[in-house]
Parts: sequence; structure tokens; C-alpha cells
Amino acid sequence: MSDIDLPLPQRTELNAPYWDSLAQCQLSFQRCRRCGHAWLPARTECPSCLEADWHWQPASGHAKLVSWVVFHIAYHEAFKNRLPYNVAIVELAEGPRLISNVVGLAEPGDLTIDQALKLRIEREGDFALPRFEPA
Ligand SMILES: [Zn+2]
Repeated sequence: MSDIDLPLPQRTELNAPYWDSLAQCQLSFQRCRRCGHAWLPARTECPSCLEADWHWQPASGHAKLVSWVVFHIAYHEAFKNRLPYNVAIVELAEGPRLISNVVGLAEPGDLTIDQALKLRIEREGDFALPRFEPA
């Protein structure tokens, strides 16, 4: 299986700390210094109060499953060899939600709403990506 054409994330000045953190096996998110709201993905202002004063904070890696779909058709050539696979909305224990995959399942749809998950960082090319597995 070749991942040469796999579409990978865009690294920017804003999200560089996120990718650097993952490369060191740590998932990080932003937290507002004004209202305490926490979020992903990276943005310049707090989505709750629009304050631009925030900091990066490491996540515990504990999470729960919010929703998911299982793909049986590849809408991009690079994913053909991975079918079927799931795409999931995962909520970190600290609050932020992200779109990810749940791996380590017998079948990609062996999932339950609110299922306890834990972080599992996997490499794709030059990127370390946050995925999850059953806790
Ligand atoms: Zn805020």
C-alpha cells in the first residue's frame, strides 16, 4: 500500500504548535485565558468570547465518541486501500471536539455513542495524527 498521494494537513504558523506537539506524542488544544473555553482546531480568537489571549494546553488523551460514519466508498484514490474505515467526532475530556478515526476495532462500525476512547497517535508521512481506540 502506497500513501504517496494521501492528502495531508496544511501546516501553518498558527497550527504549528499542534503538529509539533503530536510529533512528540502529545495532543494539545487551545484554551482562552479570559473565559476558559477550550477548542480545536487552531484559530486566532476564542470561538466563545472572541478574545485573542489564549494558550496551548496538553490533553489527557481521555475522550468519548460523539458520532461516526463508516466509509465503504473511496472519494479520494488514496483511501481506496483503507476501505471500509470510520470517520468519527470525538470529544476530549477537556471539552474540545475533533474529527478523527477510531482504530483497533474488529469492524470499523463496532462503536457506541458515548463510548470511552483513548488517544493513539499514528504516523502518516511527515505528520503524527491523533486517532483513538477503545479505552
Ligand atoms: Zn474566551
